[in-house]
Amino acid sequence: MPFDEPREECGVFGVYAPSEDVARLTFFGLYSLQHRGQESAGIASADGQKMRIHTRMGLVNTAFSEDDLSRLTGHIAIGHTRYSTTGSSMAKNAGPFLVHGDYGDIAVAHNGNLINSAILRRDLEEHGVRFEGSTDTEALTWAIGTSPGPDIAARVRRAMSRFVGAYSLAILTEDALVGVRDPKGIRPLSIGRIDHGWVIASETCALSTIGATFVRDVEPGEIVVVDAEGIHSYPMIDWDGEQATCIFEFIYFARPDSMMMGRRLHLARQRMGAELWKEDPIDADIVVPVPDSGVPAAIGYSQASGIPYAEGLIKNRYIGRTFIQPDQRLREQGVKLKLNALPEVLEGKRVVLVDDTIVRGTTSRPLVDLLRQNGAREVHMRVHAPPIMWPCYYGVDMARRDDLIAAYKTVDEVGEAIGVDSIKYLSLDGLIHAIDLPSNRFCTACLTGHYPLPVQMEMDKLSLERV
Ligand code: SF4
Repeated sequence: MPFDEPREECGVFGVYAPSEDVARLTFFGLYSLQHRGQESAGIASADGQKMRIHTRMGLVNTAFSEDDLSRLTGHIAIGHTRYSTTGSSMAKNAGPFLVHGDYGDIAVAHNGNLINSAILRRDLEEHGVRFEGSTDTEALTWAIGTSPGPDIAARVRRAMSRFVGAYSLAILTEDALVGVRDPKGIRPLSIGRIDHGWVIASETCALSTIGATFVRDVEPGEIVVVDAEGIHSYPMIDWDGEQATCIFEFIYFARPDSMMMGRRLHLARQRMGAELWKEDPIDADIVVPVPDSGVPAAIGYSQASGIPYAEGLIKNRYIGRTFIQPDQRLREQGVKLKLNALPEVLEGKRVVLVDDTIVRGTTSRPLVDLLRQNGAREVHMRVHAPPIMWPCYYGVDMARRDDLIAAYKTVDEVGEAIGVDSIKYLSLDGLIHAIDLPSNRFCTACLTGHYPLPVQMEMDKLSLERV
């Protein structure tokens, strides 16, 4: 899915480590979460008394100078990389979001999407909160910052009772780091250990990058507080036991080197490729991945089928940030900017082309044309997930059903539209089998239409700007 991708909206990171340069650790943590959001980046730090924050539009490596990092002093920090799913792409929506709350400063980095944010925002406005930006994160931060309670865990728990939706949070107070996961555990969040402290991160790849050891995932509904006394867990007492982690983290969003729910994603994706072959064996000459996201499944497909794996498409890895702006015109231009084909590999070959999903389908046709122009005799598309037929309301930018090609075309019609000789999607059973975890631990709403949280209306991602 190199140019047709649904966007994950955020990566979050937090570290509590006296005697460490926490801003720099957060910078490198965010660097490894860059794939989760490329529009803006920010870090907030605290030293027990005072909070400092720096946010900027752009990629992590352009958002912070040495001076910026050196000003972010203290022993606690949180960071955020953002892609907008609520609120437009602009500086005042960049995270983390900082408010002067009733109990002191509080900053929040949020991954996910609240489906009741308009109501929450209206309630807060009625109680005198004045909003600057248009994100659900701002509403969520104010809700925490104004919730009463004897300590931060109690205040967060009270605020959580007002939230409906997906949220994994890294929260910074003046003297504590807090990690929170929504009661369905829709978005991921992991805990790691470093020599002098604790780390939380959207994905374990960020833990590895800074030399932290993975400890465990934050449980659905759990609040984890790190302060001068150590780490404390506050599990959800009345948890209904129903987890609904986003299955797209396994298919595409999370980095292949991350661990999630005990699974290494590269290996899970290899098994998805093997399942694809088992469900529909085909005679072909080479298996070509759409780089980079199709690589693990193409390896699995090749190993299971015995058909040689070949890199027939080469990705320009340094395309720069103009390409990753959320703009349809640039997305469609993307294939020409981002991939070149190797005619020596493709000439006269029957190609199995492996990709993780087809979302809008608008840019698949140019890719198939590119393969044919470079000599491919046949192109057989194999997708290692079922068709996306329903919108996501939990933080992934595919909120309009009209945008989803599989919502209004049959599989054969999709194949015809993108110009392939044949097309096959992995079944839901095959996907679950490859992940090797019970199906009732996942949200599969965009594949099945079964939403784990009630969704009452089609939500436009900019709706908050109209209330
Ligand atoms: Fe993930 Fe799809 Fe559920 Fe959204 S609807 S959280 S993309 S599985």
